[in-house]
Amino acid sequence: MRAQPSASHFIDGDFVEDTQGEVIEVIHPADETVIARVHAATPAILERAVASAQRAQADWAARRPVERARVLARAAATLRERNRAMSELETLDTGKPLQETLVADAESGAEALEFFAGLAPTVTGETIPLGGDFAYTLREPLGVCAGIGAWNYPTQIACWKAAPALAMGNAMVFKPSELTPLCTLEVARILTEAGLPAGLFNVVQGAGAVGDALVRDERVAKVSLTGSVPTGRKVYAAAAEGIRHVTMELGGKSPLIVFDDASLEDAVSGAMLGNFYSAGQVCTNGTRVFVQRALRERFLERLAARSVAIRLGDPMDEATQMGPLISARQHETVMRYIEDGRAAGARLVTGGTAPDGPGYFVAPTVFADVSDDMTIAREEIFGPVMCVLDFEDEDEVIARANASEFGLAAGVFTNDLTRAHRVVSRLQAGTCWINSYNLTPLEMPFGGVKLSGVGRENGRAAIEHYSQVKSVHVGMGPVEAPY
Ligand code: NAD
Repeated sequence: MRAQPSASHFIDGDFVEDTQGEVIEVIHPADETVIARVHAATPAILERAVASAQRAQADWAARRPVERARVLARAAATLRERNRAMSELETLDTGKPLQETLVADAESGAEALEFFAGLAPTVTGETIPLGGDFAYTLREPLGVCAGIGAWNYPTQIACWKAAPALAMGNAMVFKPSELTPLCTLEVARILTEAGLPAGLFNVVQGAGAVGDALVRDERVAKVSLTGSVPTGRKVYAAAAEGIRHVTMELGGKSPLIVFDDASLEDAVSGAMLGNFYSAGQVCTNGTRVFVQRALRERFLERLAARSVAIRLGDPMDEATQMGPLISARQHETVMRYIEDGRAAGARLVTGGTAPDGPGYFVAPTVFADVSDDMTIAREEIFGPVMCVLDFEDEDEVIARANASEFGLAAGVFTNDLTRAHRVVSRLQAGTCWINSYNLTPLEMPFGGVKLSGVGRENGRAAIEHYSQVKSVHVGMGPVEAPY
């Protein structure tokens, strides 16, 4: 098998196997071959993982932040050195083209490790003068954190969660998606080689049941999930039982608004990046593209011409621009949405087909004349399906853009400086882009509002979600008591 790991789990600094666990076949989405077999975590495996994380955490938290930073920085350097091997594994695991994984996955993971390595030693508390008495605050780790990942960006998600958690002195038990179990094991190996003490980053495999057991473990202090809204509801509720901290990075149906004064080519590029990158399997995708009526026909013309030229094919070929979807199930879901769009009367501008042969491919698809009430305009499709909607004026488009239960991201293309900022200030979204789309540099906080989530990853903001404040009051005078 092309990508068989030496064992299914990584616990206490080593690869660990337990063949009692249910078999998970890892399928390469481009040719449907089995590339690895791993076993889901048994209760015994989960116990070992959480216990070793708990054992290791106190000592790690007691170290100087620069020491923790040094380990993360070393891991970042190794991740970069192994970028090609990591990218090839990510491509086998997810089906995303090598052209993308070479620049977007291990690279972003390494940036997260670098960023939080740099930040760790700068995190301090405050001193609060109280007129003689005073108080000070300490920012302390939470303890054992559970990370649960989606299948679209396995390396990146693991690093975006592990880097701030470890930087702040926590331990993490991470469960990757059962569809993409491979890269996180390599992240664990690299962290260990970089000097991370055993137990601080453990990886357990499995589907929802394993995730659920992890979330409910009494020793877990925080849960960070990247996944869909339905899963988010369950995980949030389970975490609430134990009053655990949560970060929820969930789905979206984000608006991308193109005013008629925008640069046409840039707006088309933004819409394509925001719908076709990773075959549309990106949470922040701008899948509702609102185009001002005066620009619509020219926009659709350029969009169609550029979309049909996208090179679909073997994701291991560096010339390929779009790979398959993750699974047969996702393929079926996306094709059903395309049928639904047709049946609802949306105009198919391009795509709408699934190429013959093995692999879960869907051609880049654009629907025009989409109305707000159509299912394709309301639900997250998570495939290369763009909906183009028309609008007339600013107030109207803002109201329509906000009329969604999601609030992950939004974008605006315009050359009117004041309008750009005015519109963004009124959009209900955790991340907004002006004349760009889907860029998520590590320095910038990232997360959603409304059903798209709570908490923030990346940026200084992430520190708050992997630590808690302890206040210390210091009495400097006699204790006044009424009795
Ligand atoms: P999913 O919700 O099906 O699964 C996510 C993870 O949760 C998987 O590891 C899964 O095994 C686990 N899980 C499922 N049920 C669980 C339960 N009851 N308890 C604990 N864990 C459980 O999501 P997916 O299909 O893997 O990923 C696609 C979704 O993720 C999309 O909705 C997408 O928008 C979202 N996403 C969000 C972000 C973000 O940062 N906001 C990033 C990537 C993907």
